[in-house]
Amino acid sequence: MLYLVPEIALTPQLAHALGERFGERVVVMHSSLNDRQRFDAWQRARRGRARIVVGARSALFAPLERLGLLIVDEEHDGGYKQEESPRYQARDLALVRGRAAGAVVVLGSATPSMEAWLSADEHRSARIVLPERVGGGALPEVELVDMRSEFRETGEDRPLSRRLTAALRETIASGEQAMVLINRRGYTRVLLCRACGEAISCIACSIALTWHRVGRRLMCHYCGYSSARPQDCPACRSPYLADIGFGTQRAEREIAEAVPGARIERLDRDAVRSPRTLARVLGGFSRGEIDVLVGTQMIAKGHHFPRVTLVGVLSADAGLRLPDFRAGERTMQLLTQVAGRAGRGDRPGRVIVQAFRPEHPALRAGLAQDYEGFAERELAARKMLRYPPAAALANLIVRDTQQEKAFERGAQLAERIREAGEGKVAVLGPSAAPRARLREQWRVQLLVRAVKRRRLVDALRRALGELTGSRGAFPRWLIVDIDPHQLL
Ligand SMILES: [Zn+2]
Ligand SMILES: [Zn+2]
Repeated sequence: MLYLVPEIALTPQLAHALGERFGERVVVMHSSLNDRQRFDAWQRARRGRARIVVGARSALFAPLERLGLLIVDEEHDGGYKQEESPRYQARDLALVRGRAAGAVVVLGSATPSMEAWLSADEHRSARIVLPERVGGGALPEVELVDMRSEFRETGEDRPLSRRLTAALRETIASGEQAMVLINRRGYTRVLLCRACGEAISCIACSIALTWHRVGRRLMCHYCGYSSARPQDCPACRSPYLADIGFGTQRAEREIAEAVPGARIERLDRDAVRSPRTLARVLGGFSRGEIDVLVGTQMIAKGHHFPRVTLVGVLSADAGLRLPDFRAGERTMQLLTQVAGRAGRGDRPGRVIVQAFRPEHPALRAGLAQDYEGFAERELAARKMLRYPPAAALANLIVRDTQQEKAFERGAQLAERIREAGEGKVAVLGPSAAPRARLREQWRVQLLVRAVKRRRLVDALRRALGELTGSRGAFPRWLIVDIDPHQLL
């Protein structure tokens, strides 16, 4: 049996649970093992000395001779998509491997991907519904705070609403635990010049730098560039720089001020640099040594903390502004996952969601925990707009240090793909990619679309065939992502 989870951090707990339940030797496989451990795990699986393999996406290639069952847990998770070459989607490959081995494949999720949902709608797979929460327990009460009226009434732009502040105090006072999610690292989001309107940006990317109070640096979240905080605007020399928006570090500080004496830990990529730190923080939280856990979506995944009775979500609608057709799906999934963290023990939970656009359908569906309604509307929209899974899509990025060159090459490629597609393949672009400049490279995007995946792949193969090297790789200036998980 092969059991995949989207993150390495989830493997130890699962391996332990499976070992206890089946009394079998379980082997763990993922990319953080060293060569010796990996070789060892590989050998044990190959020789049949361990019949259960648990791991993250690369464990899909584990050498199990008689594979009978493949489980892909949290199948909707972006962690299954490898974002570097070779770009593969482990969930989709699991279906291929399962078919070849004659094994049963189980895709598990509380918020299935649109791909999995459509496949069940079309009877290519069976849908099995678990209507009740595992281990019982009622769904938490979900409350929405409209941050527009919060601002009107208080005249202050603060990360925590009065409602959430009060709830945090009550929760901690009664000896229970809280989690606060905000999907943005750092202290403030952007440093903006009030005189000329420019944001202080990375020198290598066209992306605003984020202020990190810890370490006192402005940081680029894409290339890692960092700089000291300037006194004046680099563009117009005015001294009027303003901090706009907020991230995990600011939220942590606000909570510390709102609930004096509370034991708070932060979980994001800056605070957690190794699986060991992650395990230490999560362990401390589950033993009740921490009152409030603040963090990015790292805190939303799969963990079971029975003493958590309050979950706060800050800027719940931030992701909806991204130019990506999966933005709604991801927001809906995140809200459902995070709401699932509250009230897993015997005490009821509550969830407080803060947003600036509470009327957005994805947000409303997330709050109502109405996944079926959301999936139905979302699939209808994808069919109309011809986005996956209703069509096959490829995202091509052309990179060059010179902007005109990138556009020129993009236009040539677009022409060739159109020709190769013989009218059955649509090409959008070239246009500036959502991240128009990264690591000193200008980025131009082409979206290639066809009703049938076969046609899309054929057209790309014909149009790009001569660009690939002897080992089938594309040149460095071209990224080809078929079935992209995100368009950014
Ligand atoms: Zn300025
Ligand atoms: Zn950068």
